[in-house]
Amino acid sequence: MPDTMDQKHADFLNDCVKVLGASHVMLGDDELAAPYRQDWTGYHSGTPLAIVRPKSTDEVAQIVALCHAFGVSIVPSSGRTGLCGGGVSLPDDKSLILSLERMNTIRNLDLDGRSMTLEAGVILQNAQECAAENDLVFPLTFGAQGSAMIGGALSTNAGGSNVVKYGTTRESCIGIEAVLPDGSIINALTGLRKDNTGYDLKNLLIGAEGTLGIITAAVFKLAAMPQARTTGFLSLAALADAPRVLNALQDRTGGAVEAFEYMPDVAIDVICHAFPNTKRPLEAPAKTGIFFEVGSNRKDDAQPGEEGETRLQDLVFATLAELMEDEVVVDAMIAQSEQQRIDLWTMRESILESITENGPAYFLDISLPLAVIHDFVAEMDVKMAELGFQPITVGHLGDGNLHYTLSAAKGKNWDELPLEAAKDYAFEVLSRLNGSFSAEHGIGQSKLDVMLKLKEPSQLDAMRLIKQALDPQNLMNPGKFIPV
Ligand SMILES: Cc1cc2nc3c(=O)[nH]c(=O)nc-3n(C[C@H](O)[C@H](O)[C@H](O)COP(=O)(O)OP(=O)(O)OC[C@H]3O[C@@H](n4cnc5c(N)ncnc54)[C@H](O)[C@@H]3O)c2cc1C
Repeated sequence: MPDTMDQKHADFLNDCVKVLGASHVMLGDDELAAPYRQDWTGYHSGTPLAIVRPKSTDEVAQIVALCHAFGVSIVPSSGRTGLCGGGVSLPDDKSLILSLERMNTIRNLDLDGRSMTLEAGVILQNAQECAAENDLVFPLTFGAQGSAMIGGALSTNAGGSNVVKYGTTRESCIGIEAVLPDGSIINALTGLRKDNTGYDLKNLLIGAEGTLGIITAAVFKLAAMPQARTTGFLSLAALADAPRVLNALQDRTGGAVEAFEYMPDVAIDVICHAFPNTKRPLEAPAKTGIFFEVGSNRKDDAQPGEEGETRLQDLVFATLAELMEDEVVVDAMIAQSEQQRIDLWTMRESILESITENGPAYFLDISLPLAVIHDFVAEMDVKMAELGFQPITVGHLGDGNLHYTLSAAKGKNWDELPLEAAKDYAFEVLSRLNGSFSAEHGIGQSKLDVMLKLKEPSQLDAMRLIKQALDPQNLMNPGKFIPV
């Protein structure tokens, strides 16, 4: 250990090496530790005491017990794609980063029960591929799926593009294994669909952003693989019409909508600028553009009719024809091949990277009742333009979730724009319309101020009591999630 390190930390790290071996304990200022010092957005960074990479639940438990004994705080880390600064240590805190990336085993695939037991470090895409090989769906899809891991998805209760059909991460998880702040292990991996035997600790740990313990494994429900899919892009007359279009597609297809995503022309422009090979889905710009996918589990929906279209396509065409007659849908394209479908998905999933490349931006990750989303966007667009911002809004519209993003309007200097006034305005409108200031990305460090301002005090007090009961030394991801 370096000479400058105090005795407590040196003794602690020596004990970590005894548990994991020297090759899985790395000092926080090591050159190789750079990726662990900064979060994906680049806005949050800190130099931890060290990074440890256990391989088993037992090793996690031993390391957490050492932290408990030595009073060292812990930041759990999975795929490091979180967007709120939750997975890095605070600038002034010598925390231990505990990475789950070596715990990447798919422990069990239960085809009869249609479930899968996964360790916390399994990358979402690997879970999707394993399920697909067995004609099943692992129900989480979003842009970071090639890096994000089970532990991170559970701890942020991630959403994504197909929540409208499968729900958030929480709704798919039916069992959990975790290490509590004192090093004890909870093993609740039975995967039972029904189990009313006490407080629901699984749901307490999900969405807790590592403040109550470390998730080491989980059981997920799998869904049947759709037999037929129809994917396309729509231009609507107005955002206020979106619920009618969504519900019409749901009603005609038996609730088979898998994705219903808001992608106005301003977002498509930013994507085309960042990725010039992107093909615009429609010729005319769509002020209210919607990317959608419908996936039916019924075999007969995959049967081709006389014209060669599947029954599902016919249902979608018939729905859109009616909506066009009523001038609700202005223009539409339907993917005619798997490649066109993939191109649409690639376009959707490249938005965050495109906005990041576009210049400095502030991401509002909000949710609202569907009926008032157009009121929010209309009011905000006017006010933000007045303040000098160019909003770039996309979102999982089907579940009322918008990523309303502020960037500098043409000719404006980001550093001179009144960001705090813009945020205050947005949160006032949001409160008035009964929305949430964090729909799927969580709180981390970046939303603590809003959490303090907008979360009901009685709920914050209850959260503090739970935290105090399970983690009295405040060792688990301190300075995140719950405002002081
Ligand atoms: C391009 C892009 C697109 C994205 N799209 C979406 C989207 O559509 N929907 C969405 O919800 N999110 C999205 N995100 C955000 C991010 O991918 C998710 O929050 C994801 O769930 C984080 O997983 P991770 O493995 O990277 O977690 P990390 O970033 O490693 O950690 C996230 C938080 O969870 C804690 N944590 C990590 N592992 C554990 C564990 N095992 N036990 C306890 N706590 C733990 C960390 O301390 C941190 O607070 C996107 C991010 C990017 C970069």
